Amino acid sequence: MKRIAIIGGGISGLSAAYALEKKRRDGVEVEYGLFEASPRLGGVLVTEHVDGCLVEAGPDSFLTEKPWASDLCRELGLGDQLIGSNDADRKTYIVVRGRLIEMPDGLMFMVPTKILPTVLSPLFSLKTKLRMAQEWFHPPRKANGDETVAAMVERHYGTEMVDLLADPLLSGVYGGEASQLSVRAVLARFADMEAKHGSLGRAMLVARRNAPKPNGAPRPLFTSLKDGMQQMVDALVTRLDGDALHTGAPAQAISFEGGGWIVSAGLHSDQFDAVILALPTQAASRLLQMHSPNLASELAGVHYSSSVTVALGYDEKVRRSLPPGFGFLVPRSAGKRMLAATFVHNKFPHRAPADRALLRCFLGGARDEPILSLSQDEILRITRDELKQILKLTAEPLFTRVFKWKGAMAQYGVGHLDRLQRVETLRQKISGLALAGNGYSGIGVPDCVRSGTTAAEEILKALGITDSQSISIKS
Ligand SMILES: Cc1cc2nc3c(=O)[nH]c(=O)nc-3n(C[C@H](O)[C@H](O)[C@H](O)COP(=O)(O)OP(=O)(O)OC[C@H]3O[C@@H](n4cnc5c(N)ncnc54)[C@H](O)[C@@H]3O)c2cc1C
Repeated sequence: MKRIAIIGGGISGLSAAYALEKKRRDGVEVEYGLFEASPRLGGVLVTEHVDGCLVEAGPDSFLTEKPWASDLCRELGLGDQLIGSNDADRKTYIVVRGRLIEMPDGLMFMVPTKILPTVLSPLFSLKTKLRMAQEWFHPPRKANGDETVAAMVERHYGTEMVDLLADPLLSGVYGGEASQLSVRAVLARFADMEAKHGSLGRAMLVARRNAPKPNGAPRPLFTSLKDGMQQMVDALVTRLDGDALHTGAPAQAISFEGGGWIVSAGLHSDQFDAVILALPTQAASRLLQMHSPNLASELAGVHYSSSVTVALGYDEKVRRSLPPGFGFLVPRSAGKRMLAATFVHNKFPHRAPADRALLRCFLGGARDEPILSLSQDEILRITRDELKQILKLTAEPLFTRVFKWKGAMAQYGVGHLDRLQRVETLRQKISGLALAGNGYSGIGVPDCVRSGTTAAEEILKALGITDSQSISIKS
């Protein structure tokens, strides 16, 4: 019997456990033990039900175009629970000079693909509009190494585009800044487009023209679950071997002795043939410090930012007073601490009854780590002050929730892909070790599902457990 330890019980660790559980049920001689530091499983996936509203503390959905999370949900029997965002109402605003200005139609990420709405939009200055026209003639440019997203966007569209769109869009996804994040790691497609076409605008149009035409209605941009993201965690947990799940069991140390791994977690130590570290890279680094200082140092080099989400529920009157659309982004130049806000009742209508408005605000990120040390009341006061300035919203909320996520969002800085190669080279030299989580090849929930599943497959392969073995064991 091969024994595998999984450290970390977020969606990455649970996905790894599920992949192993399937093998176990298939008769493969494998067992696992999952060690989670906190009293609950799921990591940042937390859903609460408050006053008839569904409040997401962490992620509220995932990108439909990345299939791994939806595929897992279907496998878990949650296919009929998958829901799409209400894209008919998909409008996003940018806060400019204290006003909400709608992002013009045809923007793909930050690349304008429709001339008229962009020219008519009050969002951009004349100077930026002229840059957009010139961008059409940008010559192809082979990337010479990595650079920041800000450097690339500035080269194509100028600094205003970085401030108004690139920076706020990235802080929404990564809690990070365009001036820090690697274009090759977070927008690899843009680097390829520039190398081939020069102009990002022209490249986007070519890509759109060549994309397969959808059969039937276009797919929604975001997918989620009727009863919230926690539904995915709950379904996973019921499929796993309950005796193998250890909560309130932080792994304090791992060491390789006598051809196997000793894992010390909580009050116990146990022996395993292999270990999957499904942790933020900083935590993985601490555990590997003794065994592989080089790998530990590479992992410590991936920085993380923290995030705060604030949910506020309001009555029907407020709901009627709020603009349509999914919400707004706040550029740094607006001088606020809030990074973005979602009008949840529009994005996923059934998450708030018809007589409720539900707002979800984001604060923190790479440029405001100190917010984490403020009390919940202070964070709430800042949020309400800024909602008053931006939306003229002065009404008393019916309920509020503040969630702090310390060091939860990996920041893929310049050179991240080179670092990943070094990490992989070092990892392969270590017997029975796999890494999963949001610090490597994607921060979203689908990427984390994929990373956990891949880590489990890598370990099974390293232990010499192949699919053919699983079939021979069964028969
Ligand atoms: C506020 C917020 C909003 C987000 N929104 C979205 C979104 O809308 N869509 C999307 O796709 N993604 C979103 N993300 C990103 C995505 O949710 C995360 O990247 C992903 O869930 C991370 O999963 P994970 O399992 O890798 O890490 P985590 O969820 O961080 O889990 C790691 C686990 O390891 C445990 N741990 C740490 N140290 C130890 C130890 N020594 N021993 C044992 N256990 C340990 C922790 O307690 C934790 O439970 C969001 C993230 C945040 C924070």
